[in-house]
Amino acid sequence: MEKLAPEQWLRPAVLDMSAYHVPPPGDAIKLDAMENPFAWPGALPESLRAEWAAGLAELELNRYPDAAASELSVALRDWLQLADNTGLMLGNGSDELIQLLMIAAGNGCVMAPEPTFVMYRHLALCCGLEFVGVPLNADDFSLDLPAMLAAVEREQPKLIFLAYPNNPTGNRFDRDAVLQIIQASPGLVVVDEAYAAFAADSLLDALPSHDNLLLMRTLSKIGLAGLRLGLLAGATRWIEQLDKLRLPYNINTLTQFSAIFALRHRQVLDEQATLLREERQRLFVALSERSDAQVWPSEANFLTFRVPDAVQTHQRLLDEGVLIKRLHGAHPALEQCLRVTVGTAEENQRFLHALG
Ligand SMILES: *Cc1c(COP(=O)(O)O)cnc(C)c1O
Repeated sequence: MEKLAPEQWLRPAVLDMSAYHVPPPGDAIKLDAMENPFAWPGALPESLRAEWAAGLAELELNRYPDAAASELSVALRDWLQLADNTGLMLGNGSDELIQLLMIAAGNGCVMAPEPTFVMYRHLALCCGLEFVGVPLNADDFSLDLPAMLAAVEREQPKLIFLAYPNNPTGNRFDRDAVLQIIQASPGLVVVDEAYAAFAADSLLDALPSHDNLLLMRTLSKIGLAGLRLGLLAGATRWIEQLDKLRLPYNINTLTQFSAIFALRHRQVLDEQATLLREERQRLFVALSERSDAQVWPSEANFLTFRVPDAVQTHQRLLDEGVLIKRLHGAHPALEQCLRVTVGTAEENQRFLHALG
């Protein structure tokens, strides 16, 4: 029997896409992926670290996890103050929830403004859906509301993703524009609040009054990227259906325990977020004062800025032991742009020093 080659076996959309590339950091200071720089559990007070470790030692990893993650769900509901009639489902990172939404949609169109989080496009194409990107205004990365509303009317998308604040641009879209898009959309609008801890607004309070709004959060950017825990909140009648597609044990026992523990001591994470917002302001001022850089205001834990030669600057920083993200080449609006994650005061100083 003649065998199929991968090129014959795979869908053209998959053959055309490039793999999601994560550069190995080596010994460099890692300011490329919006991680919290304060180690967990390393930066915890000694007593908390011991309590966490003792709890881990009691877990029974021979057993399957709690499939419903009941105790964790209660803790998350309490954290976000979710109303009783708001549904909640958990994912192995919000990436998994994005993928699950694509699988649930099955066919049709997925829409997002661009440039934005690359996973929306990537996972739509992985799952065989069509993706339509609507350009943001190039000067300040704000939503082009007339263009968005026209695209919604034309494409009737099943899913719209709005990162609030947006990655990789750092700005938060106009709240009223987002609400207008939700109202004009026949399908679901996912407001992705991965950076809520660093932002001045949230659409949590709009959930009860908007049946087609789903709100996504993650623990990744506030300090627990290694746990892989994301959540989706929305109208119960939607969440109940979507939850059927979730793999039964997607939140492992170690994650359930650690996330409950972290939420019980969330003051630690809140204080770190406060520090990072202050550091963001300091970095913003330092970059603004440079005549060779243009920096955009950010409500996330990173700053996007433009330099004369992004490839050269990126390499020079790497040579100096600082890894940031090169955005140049990812989208026309990001020409000569770089993105730096806000680190500790010391790391940020190292970055500024390496920048020269
Ligand atoms: C980082 C990021 C995510 C990914 O979150 P995980 O929970 O780590 O999968 C989702 N959305 C946006 C906008 C992000 O920047």
